[in-house]
Amino acid sequence: MIDKLAIIGVGLIGSSLALALKQAGAVGQVIGYGRNRENLEKGVELGVIDGFESSIQDCVQGADVIVVAVPLGAMRPVFAELKPTISKAAVITDVGSAKGSVVAAATAELGELVSRFVPGHPIAGTEQSGVEAGFASLYQNRRVILTPLNQTDQDATSIIEAMWHECGAIIEYLSVEHHDKVLAATSHLPHMLAYALVHYLSGLNDHDEIFRFAAGGFRDFTRIASSDPVMWRDVCIANGDALVGLIEQYQQELDRVAAAISAGDADELLKLFGKAKSERDSLIGNC
Ligand code: NAP
Repeated sequence: MIDKLAIIGVGLIGSSLALALKQAGAVGQVIGYGRNRENLEKGVELGVIDGFESSIQDCVQGADVIVVAVPLGAMRPVFAELKPTISKAAVITDVGSAKGSVVAAATAELGELVSRFVPGHPIAGTEQSGVEAGFASLYQNRRVILTPLNQTDQDATSIIEAMWHECGAIIEYLSVEHHDKVLAATSHLPHMLAYALVHYLSGLNDHDEIFRFAAGGFRDFTRIASSDPVMWRDVCIANGDALVGLIEQYQQELDRVAAAISAGDADELLKLFGKAKSERDSLIGNC
């Protein structure tokens, strides 16, 4: 049971966590911090948070668990602001989509309190943002990856693991580097493909007509291009090295497809599509 939970950044991910913990009866009081007062007032009205503060220091005062749920680019200044106020017993975690940059920011700003920091990433989300997008079942049966550091206290990790368990999540442990490599392939690259496709098509002269005839496949493939641009700008900056390498390899794969089409190589196309279909069918069966 968490007596006081502080959420820095009451958006989709932070508010879904608050709602899930409240539904599970696993939290006493939830206090939020954000820059936009209207969003926080909405959070109180919706029962996501019990109150809010206009400074990070006031928000984290007396909190047992502090969840930093802001875009990746805002993590470092948040860590810097909360450091002077938090008690040594408090546990800090984050939900950022890349871990290397967050760990570097926490290490630089938290000093010896980095032993109370448990980096985390729920593999769950939608293309919506803000407090109104949150819902209690977001993490049910979804994976949450924790990437504790060598210096992370075991009791801190156990508290964050228990918190996510209360939300119905499945916990996995990865190293920071492995997390960023895997997520670059399975999450970050697909977002780049969706953004690039919609951006490319919208630049064509007849784009109105193209979008008018867009059907289910286009809708499915491009849903994630409606995700928050700030969040994805920050993911690209944070995990750029892994991501650019994958984009280059993917370009080679597209070249192979184009070459097979140009050559009228029906066997090659059938082989490629068949392998991709069976891979996806077995993958979805496991999710
Ligand atoms: P979101 O809905 O936009 O919420 C982010 C919140 O952070 C907003 O409520 C915003 O409130 C606050 N914020 C933004 N900049 C801030 C700053 N400089 N200082 C303090 N607060 C700030 O975004 P989200 O989808 O919940 O994403 C939050 C984190 O979760 C990101 O690090 C993202 O990488 C990670 N994540 C997202 C997903 C996903 O699918 N969306 C999945 C897994 C992990 P104010 O504007 O009021 O400040």
